[in-house]
Amino acid sequence: MLRHVEQLYADLDKEITAQPAACVMKSLCCHFEGHYGHRLYVTAVEACYYLSKETPPPATGDSCPHLVNGLCGAREARPAGCRIFFCDPSSQAWQGPLTETYLARLKQLHVRFNIRYVYADWLVVLEAIRTHRLS
Ligand code: SF4
Repeated sequence: MLRHVEQLYADLDKEITAQPAACVMKSLCCHFEGHYGHRLYVTAVEACYYLSKETPPPATGDSCPHLVNGLCGAREARPAGCRIFFCDPSSQAWQGPLTETYLARLKQLHVRFNIRYVYADWLVVLEAIRTHRLS
């Protein structure tokens, strides 16, 4: 299953590279409840993929704990939502359709590998993993 998630991310990254997307605010989107007031959601298969590559760092309030000095410390394992979101207003037109397309593909992976579909808040998922590892 993990290699299918990896392939999905490779396809997604290729599609994003083809877009005229610009990172304007440089990591502000990784501070949740901050500038954009948004949250990031992640599916179960993505959480599995993330766990195969990373360990959640200690919590850092409403910011992603993988954000280090303005850079993502989990780039290879970051979820589709991180890859797709750009604050550049010109990105609005393609982000929605791309999100729908790749969420559908992620849902198909849950069905194919008989994994219960979950779409949960990224920080909540990281906290759950952390708690489980400590217990
Ligand atoms: S995983 Fe990386 S890109 Fe995603 S919210 Fe965290 S620091 Fe930002």
